[in-house]
Amino acid sequence: MLERVRPSPRALGDPASRDPRHDVLFEPMAIGPVTAKNRFYQVPHCNGGGYRDPSAAAAMRGVKAEGGWGVVFTEQVEIHHTSEITPFIELRIWDDDDVPMLARMADAVHAHDALAGIELTYSGINGPNLYTREVPRGCSPGPILTFTSDPVQARGMDLSDIRDLRRWYRNACLRARDAGFDLICLYGAHGFGIIQHFLSRHTNHRTDAYGGSLANRARLLAELVGEARDAVGDTCGITVRLALEELVGPLGFSNEELRELIEMHAELPDLWDLAHGTWEDCSATSRFAGEGAQEDLITGIKALTPRPVVGVGRFTSPDTMARQVREGVLDFVGAARPSIADPFLPSKIDEGRVGDIRECIGCNICVTGDTTMSLARCTQNPSFMEEFRKGWHPERIASRSSDARVLVVGGGPAGLEAARGLGARGYDVALAEASRTLGGRVAREATLPNLAAWDRVRGYRESQIAQLDGVEIYRESRMQAEDILGLGVEHVCIATGARWRADAVARHHLRPIPHHPDMPTFTPDDIMGGRLPSPGSEERTAGGLAGRVLIYDDDHYYMGGVIAERLRAEGMDVTLVTPATSVSEWTAFTLEQVRIQTRLLELGIDIRTTRALNRVDASSVTIACTYTGREETLDAAAVVYVTSRVGEDQLYRDLVARQSEWRAAGIHSVRLIGDAEAPAPIAWAVYAGRRYAEELDAPDVGDALPFRREVAALSTLAHGG
Ligand code: ADP
Ligand code: SF4
Repeated sequence: MLERVRPSPRALGDPASRDPRHDVLFEPMAIGPVTAKNRFYQVPHCNGGGYRDPSAAAAMRGVKAEGGWGVVFTEQVEIHHTSEITPFIELRIWDDDDVPMLARMADAVHAHDALAGIELTYSGINGPNLYTREVPRGCSPGPILTFTSDPVQARGMDLSDIRDLRRWYRNACLRARDAGFDLICLYGAHGFGIIQHFLSRHTNHRTDAYGGSLANRARLLAELVGEARDAVGDTCGITVRLALEELVGPLGFSNEELRELIEMHAELPDLWDLAHGTWEDCSATSRFAGEGAQEDLITGIKALTPRPVVGVGRFTSPDTMARQVREGVLDFVGAARPSIADPFLPSKIDEGRVGDIRECIGCNICVTGDTTMSLARCTQNPSFMEEFRKGWHPERIASRSSDARVLVVGGGPAGLEAARGLGARGYDVALAEASRTLGGRVAREATLPNLAAWDRVRGYRESQIAQLDGVEIYRESRMQAEDILGLGVEHVCIATGARWRADAVARHHLRPIPHHPDMPTFTPDDIMGGRLPSPGSEERTAGGLAGRVLIYDDDHYYMGGVIAERLRAEGMDVTLVTPATSVSEWTAFTLEQVRIQTRLLELGIDIRTTRALNRVDASSVTIACTYTGREETLDAAAVVYVTSRVGEDQLYRDLVARQSEWRAAGIHSVRLIGDAEAPAPIAWAVYAGRRYAEELDAPDVGDALPFRREVAALSTLAHGG
């Protein structure tokens, strides 16, 4: 039976009035010839759309402007065909043909009174030119430095190449102005962009006027900024985005050198946009860095220049933002991920609705849009990059189109988002959750080392649902088919999640392996539920063994590494075995892999890569090299399987089996969504919940494509003639 629990009262700031401590964030500020209306500065960030999905990217930027960001930038925009970073998908401004797609974005931003910025990039030694087949040109010759280790080298630029480069930048600036941009940023941070390659002794080995001293290494930057201003300076602000510290060893561009450079060229650009280290450093996940992590590196820089300074730090707390501006650490609060998770963050602060902010959880799923060359998605904001494709909006959703009542079963990310979206549409919703706690997997995973931010997925949705009159939450209400058939609801959304398998079946083994029943066996669900192989327990000493706990990771995302940390924190002797070539291999796409493996090594975890688990005996396991098949036996007191998950779809199947009773019960539809349908990362479940809410009662589109897309315009020249 459903036991009704009243939602807790809304925990909101004073409605419709800004906290005066945040006023400083709403003071306008000039950037050269243009003025930003406030201090919210969406720094450039990729989105996996770029030249392939320009309207999707433009609509996404427009929504951020609508949400109150005073400045909204593009991602990096390639200025010339001699430097491009295929397979990664960014924007281009190679010639006039690219101007309309850029103008679409600038227009979308201007529609909401924000400044539109464009980040111009010449990738130099980062651009393999796999598409254009041009010979790459770098500050100095050497192998191309990208994520993909392409077997291609760049030639060093001579002085005539540098003259060409300056002309290309100037042309790009003129086109950017024609496209309607207010701010032009010259990019040289995160190890990307030729400006940084010239600035850093790491990549600049030149002995001419562009190499050696800092003044020489900064010559190109000074020329490019000066020429950009000559070209467009009365209409556009010229900004630079530079590394706060390169973090590539003693020859890298250091924070001291940056300060020296800024003193040397204090008035050169109209704004200094500063970002830390490599992209991995700057966009560290919440597992490795907290909010405002770059504060020490940026503090004091404002005193060196009369120009405004912008810095980032995955800011989601308005108090931290306001303090950094008030204390003169920054002039503008730069943000990429917080603006993705909540495009309306500035408006919510302005309206005193800080409790409504959808805080970024620092998972970097958004980054995987770029690194997997797909369209970016966000765990917290399922409408990200669906603004054009599906017409989704982060704050609005169409009103209900019927009086139907909906039962959502399961209060994990999928069920919570479905209930929130349906409630916002005005539907009468009952959310039934088997346990006392909402959040499902995010509540459980948030108890693991450094994953506390995952719980924001629950926190945001629970607080939003508490404000919706039409949604009732029923905790400790495990539903059976029989209960549902007696409820009198028209639609049933089953979001009952998934459980980890307790065997080796995943990618390497598609079928179970031999497994002795005496070997104590665990899954991440056990560990999160508090059942672990603890030192001294009977389980652990079974067979008289000391206590190696063997984790077998054939999942490859974060869970294997996190479980290893968790068990190591209990003092266990942990060995992590994986068929992959590195630990938590997929986290290379979230920019965490190196940090994860480093941390596990530093914790003393024994890592065995390219090894499959082939057999589990009572007190030992057999692992085998994935290349040679050579086997090795390891003593083990317990095995933790981090392999794959099984959808909890029994309830759905029970209902389907009784479909003949639906009509009498008044049921029109039963849908299975989220991890219960097919396990995937949290972002997928949130998306499934949003999609359910968006599409309930929507007309059936049959076999039609369920989103808008752009198809390349065909050339009128049939055979290239
Ligand atoms: P997802 O990621 O798809 O949202 P989760 O595993 O995070 O999935 O959440 C599923 C939730 O569904 C869990 O909180 C679980 O307790 C709940 N649940 C599972 N089966 C039932 C059921 N029969 N009735 C009510 N709640 C259920
Ligand atoms: Fe933040 Fe994750 Fe969304 Fe990226 S995907 S913006 S890191 S919540």
